[in-house]
Amino acid sequence: MLCRNWELPDVLRSMRSLEDRFNKDYHYTWTFLNDVDFTELFKLETTAMASGDTQYATIPAEDWNTPWYINETKYNECVKKFTEENIIYGFSKSYRNMCHFNSGYFYKQELLKNYDYYFRVEPGVEYFCDFQMDPFRLMREQKKKYGFVISIIEYEETIPTLWPTVEDFLHEYPDAQNANSAVEFVTNKEPIGFAVLDVETNSAYNLCHFWSNFEIGDLNFFRSDVYEAYFTYLSKSGGFHYERWGDAPVHSIAAALLLDKNEIHRFEDIGYYHNPFHTCPSSNNMRIGKRCICRDEDEDDEQPISDLEPNSCLTKWWKYGSGKRFIR
Ligand code: GDP
Ligand code: MN
Repeated sequence: MLCRNWELPDVLRSMRSLEDRFNKDYHYTWTFLNDVDFTELFKLETTAMASGDTQYATIPAEDWNTPWYINETKYNECVKKFTEENIIYGFSKSYRNMCHFNSGYFYKQELLKNYDYYFRVEPGVEYFCDFQMDPFRLMREQKKKYGFVISIIEYEETIPTLWPTVEDFLHEYPDAQNANSAVEFVTNKEPIGFAVLDVETNSAYNLCHFWSNFEIGDLNFFRSDVYEAYFTYLSKSGGFHYERWGDAPVHSIAAALLLDKNEIHRFEDIGYYHNPFHTCPSSNNMRIGKRCICRDEDEDDEQPISDLEPNSCLTKWWKYGSGKRFIR
């Protein structure tokens, strides 16, 4: 979990939920990362909440701060413009640092060196059902490299040049794309056969992304040469800073292009909430068997995502991803 000291109450809520629903039976270690030192109170209370070990690290400044190749004057102008245009988190430099860190640095942190898999947790989230299984084991046994629960549309204004930059990257690294990738899941234009995205024909990003506040993934995917080349290319282009690229579309496009689509897994049986969306297993029997307490769809302060609503990309995943559950 990447978080700030002042988020402690919400950190504890997330921990309580994940411990009760899953980790109390497994005792996996919790790793906490922060761009400033954690307080003693933070460490005390999170250690008490964990059923296993806890470890804490302050992120090295060079992994967090704005890289040298970002022009400060241009950066300030862009932030100003994004602020004036009321683009979500457009005003925030720390949010940009966070997205840049989550895209290219979390898996390089010293405390994670000995790990192969991670489960990203954010403050203030809730898990609605008993897991009754170990998702890490599922990932390993089924050779999955990226796992998600919710997939929705990204705010277009935050990523004006992301897709063109990805196309430039593919041009420069023609072997990068996996021959059995989930490219159709993220593009409007369906490529013919396994063809590498045809940059000449202007294929377009459809804004679908895996909601990355929940992720269970293989750290070695991110540590691979191809992902490193992809991240470096994107970072040097400046879009994390001059625009406001989120780590969600960056991770998602990487997973959709660089992995075999069968290496991406949708956890159909995990109920999850992160403001303002939630998802719950669609099967009634599963909800009962897993003791789910799903959010009431009618709570008026919620904007629950039913997986079949228009801003959800799940139907697209079922069609183009590895989720062809109806015919398997
Ligand atoms: P949202 O989910 O996109 O609305 O953004 P959040 O505020 O939840 O931030 C995403 C994740 O990054 C959460 O785990 C936050 O705790 C963490 N985060 C965001 N900004 C910072 C920051 O400046 N410092 C640290 N240490 N964590 C941050
Ligand atoms: Mn969040």
